[in-house]
Amino acid sequence: MTGPVRERVALLGHPVGHSVSPAMHNAAFRALDIPMTYSAIDVPPADFTTRVNSLRSSPWRGANVTIPHKTRAHEIADSHDETARRSGSVNTFVRDDGQLLGYDTDGPGLLEALEARQGFHPNGSRCVVLGAGGAANAAVAALAAAGAEAITVLSRTPERASAHRAIQRDASEVGVLGDPAAWPAEVDLIVHATPVGMSVSPGSEAYRDAVDTCDAWIPGSLPGTPLFLDLIYTPRQSAFLAAASRRSERLEDGLEMLVRQAGLAFSLWTGKAAPLEGMRNAAIQALTAHR
Ligand code: NAP
Repeated sequence: MTGPVRERVALLGHPVGHSVSPAMHNAAFRALDIPMTYSAIDVPPADFTTRVNSLRSSPWRGANVTIPHKTRAHEIADSHDETARRSGSVNTFVRDDGQLLGYDTDGPGLLEALEARQGFHPNGSRCVVLGAGGAANAAVAALAAAGAEAITVLSRTPERASAHRAIQRDASEVGVLGDPAAWPAEVDLIVHATPVGMSVSPGSEAYRDAVDTCDAWIPGSLPGTPLFLDLIYTPRQSAFLAAASRRSERLEDGLEMLVRQAGLAFSLWTGKAAPLEGMRNAAIQALTAHR
């Protein structure tokens, strides 16, 4: 006996081996009894366009796109939602009648996470973003669209920041990471968007080095109690948040953003509200298993 035809969703990235997205999405499909499966496919840059074009026909419902393909995905998409248009980046494709519709759920996922976990609304806020890669670009686009008053982007190579559409258009200032003079006088939100501290375990020398590196990026004292958000998702305290905890008690890691961007993509493919708690639990379980 055969069951219902399963539509498929892929994660296209390079590498994708440790992604927790398959765990989150397959848990969500199972929870709502949706006949779809999600699998991670390692696609080197040279094969990306061919692979994306193969998604235009059945059984594909769509895809997620991750490092290093998000800008190329924006170029290939047949249309874009408002957020993808702003950021110049696509992390989600939806197939519709042979067309690939391009969405960016990273920035909206970040805004949802700030709201849900910290009650933080960017409207009128002063933000500092550390790093100027794809995730920083998505954060800048989302914060600007949500009404941030000023966004300072600090990068070790500020000249590369201008390669990103949103940073070029929406950042108030772009400066050098580690230069205290580049910081604004007042700051409400600090977003860490570099991979520093990503795969290091607390207690190790590498972890201590990463904490020291992050510590040197942040002025010794900041007025008020700003919110620190590390985009790195980990089941233990991140090196950046360890450094940040010397300045503020308002700390958030990247797990909720990860879950929310996945939830938004899930809704685009299925038309249903995402079972966020189940997706969060699946992500934590997968992250813990990968440690
Ligand atoms: P990316 O495009 O490669 O950009 C990385 C940025 O970090 C670049 O500006 C890079 O500077 C900078 N950088 C790298 N190593 C550095 C170092 N040792 N010191 C100072 N700066 C350094 O990566 P991405 O996609 O933006 O991802 C950044 C982080 O965000 C990753 O840890 C990723 O896991 C996380 N992320 C989380 C979510 C989520 O849902 N929570 C979503 C997306 C990304 P150069 O340009 O000078 O190399």
